[in-house]
Amino acid sequence: MKTIVITGAGGILCSTLAEALAKEGHQIALLDLNIEAAQHIADSIKEKGGKAIALKVNVLEKGSLVQAKNRINEEFGACQVLINGAGGNHPAATTDDLFYDTSSNHKEELKTFFNLGMSGIKFVFDLNFMGTLLPTQVFAEDMVEAKEGNIINISSMNSFQPLTKIPAYSGAKAAISNFTQWLAVYFSKVGIRVNALAPGFFLTEQNRRLLTQEDGSLTERGETIIKRTPLRKFGTPEDLISTTRWLCEDGSNFITGIVVPIDGGFSAFSGV
Ligand code: NAD
Repeated sequence: MKTIVITGAGGILCSTLAEALAKEGHQIALLDLNIEAAQHIADSIKEKGGKAIALKVNVLEKGSLVQAKNRINEEFGACQVLINGAGGNHPAATTDDLFYDTSSNHKEELKTFFNLGMSGIKFVFDLNFMGTLLPTQVFAEDMVEAKEGNIINISSMNSFQPLTKIPAYSGAKAAISNFTQWLAVYFSKVGIRVNALAPGFFLTEQNRRLLTQEDGSLTERGETIIKRTPLRKFGTPEDLISTTRWLCEDGSNFITGIVVPIDGGFSAFSGV
């Protein structure tokens, strides 16, 4: 039984991981800005006989992370696994156009690269990158002391090849993959392994507007993705469970610093 801290645990992907890991007997600390969502998952885990605690945390505020750590230490003891799941994109950091085109970009209503404001870009960079770095600074302290631990970051397909429209999100996820390698080396002498998941396309609330129409049929972008995914489907949150479990357990003892694509073959396919 391990104490597992998950940020963004009220969200679609990490709530699924929280439930699956709790089922195996681990103690789960669910951290989220949206405390109602995290509490709902914690209650569901406890109803099934599992151990969970939900805490309101802003991954961008170190004080709030330290407060959460103190509470977790009292309740469950030291953190042994950290899953950095809080993250996402924002419409303010998303262009309307795929390619810059001087003939159409003069239309005022079109949000091009040139109209992206600093605040939207900074929001996405901070949430994804700083929101991974700060919880690591706080929770890895327990692991350093124990000389053992596992950190799992959540990168994305975007980190291998940027997707159109979302330059800040792609850049921030590339930074997470890079940081995963850096941290793996940095912590290699103190028994902490650091790896990342790179989910491909999962149909969730975060991207539903981009991938499907109101009637559930695919948007042009959704269709392009499916055509470029050799396994010809979107992933489900459950597809992340076995890799996460593997990276937290002894079976992956010689593995650190990798970013595992879970993407139906998207990153392997050139399109031709
Ligand atoms: P989600 O929006 O369902 O969950 C994200 C959670 O993070 C939410 O519960 C939200 O309240 C929380 N959060 C946001 N800002 C926070 C903050 N400042 N402090 C604490 N919590 C905060 O998203 P998801 O689809 O479950 O994605 C989880 C992770 O996986 C993200 O890092 C995302 O970028 C990544 N990812 C998702 C996909 C996908 O297809 N859904 C693909 C690749 C990578």
